[in-house]
Amino acid sequence: MGKKRIYLSSPTMHGKEQEFVQEAFDTNWIAPLGPNVTAFEQEMLAYTGAGCATALSAGTAAIHLALKLLNIGPGDVVFVSDLTFSATCNPIVYEGAAPVFIDAEPDTWNMSPQALEKAFEKYPHPKAVLCAYLYGTPAKINEIMAICEKHHVPYIEDAAESLGSTYMGRHTGTLGKFGIYSFNGNKIITTSGGGMLVSDDEEAIKKALFLATQARDPARHYQHSQIGYNYRMSNVTAGIGRGQLLYMEEHKARKQAIYRQYQEAFADIPEISMNPLNPDGDANNWLSCMTIAKGSSVTPDEIMDALDAENIESRPIWKPMHEQPVFAECDFVPHNEDGSSVGSDIFARGLCLPSDIKNTPEDMELIIGIVRKCFNK
Ligand SMILES: *Cc1c(COP(=O)(O)O)cnc(C)c1O
Repeated sequence: MGKKRIYLSSPTMHGKEQEFVQEAFDTNWIAPLGPNVTAFEQEMLAYTGAGCATALSAGTAAIHLALKLLNIGPGDVVFVSDLTFSATCNPIVYEGAAPVFIDAEPDTWNMSPQALEKAFEKYPHPKAVLCAYLYGTPAKINEIMAICEKHHVPYIEDAAESLGSTYMGRHTGTLGKFGIYSFNGNKIITTSGGGMLVSDDEEAIKKALFLATQARDPARHYQHSQIGYNYRMSNVTAGIGRGQLLYMEEHKARKQAIYRQYQEAFADIPEISMNPLNPDGDANNWLSCMTIAKGSSVTPDEIMDALDAENIESRPIWKPMHEQPVFAECDFVPHNEDGSSVGSDIFARGLCLPSDIKNTPEDMELIIGIVRKCFNK
């Protein structure tokens, strides 16, 4: 028998999910739309404090629709986080617009307000600013939003990783013009796959629903004046979401405890730093990450290999978008005056530690022991 697998972040189900799914089966509401979808939207609004919501098939679909609702198209520029998962920026390209990647800053690993200011000097009229909250940590949102307001540019929050995180007491995803959430398999709560678009703009959210359901005009016959999408969440998956949402705070508390345990366990190793948290926020700690000090002989690969040898999953930091072959033609605005990239540095020195909330105390001890051993501790 092989060793038990320890995961980075896998789904945690509680049984309640199945009750909502069973209800969908019992009432034959297997279609998209249905009572679970509407209820899940309402329950997400109650939880986050957002104004209006449309449940969708993926977080990526939510980002895509946010861009559509802002009429972003060919020739437009969108400022977007550089240090993130590619799903943040792919929809910009779906619409034929040009992403301009904004570097991270070292304090929260999110979009640098300084780099954002510099980007406005070069491109005075972007159509939107799209910022992801990496690993659940809120960005310097007030600074970023002040810059957006000064330039009259809408702010979109990619809160796919940060559901449940707050900034100055308010939920991430509810602060900008649009917010997006993801319920993909490894996120803090999951519907197996799914997403949500939220906004205080009721008209926009209605339009999102229209576009997400094939853009059918209000006529009995099938009439279309616009191109639509099949992006709606199904009533079955929404049932999973309703069950998961009941445990959201529990998941968050577990994730935060994992982060604190790593932080304490590595406190005596000066070469290790945990991913920084924003003092103005309360992060969900979706993934706990660490960086290795410059000049250390230990590399992230070494640690990932050592964990892998014990059947423990870990992951590199997201590779910055400006380093991706597919975005080689896109512009990038660095944080540092000397033109070096903060995101590239974090990528080179960092890794994501196993952050599965089902990890037992023994699992955590095993992981910690393996990492410590890499530093001869
Ligand atoms: C997961 C993720 C997405 C995409 O969400 P899906 O539901 O998988 O489409 C977008 N942005 C970030 C930062 C993510 O981590």
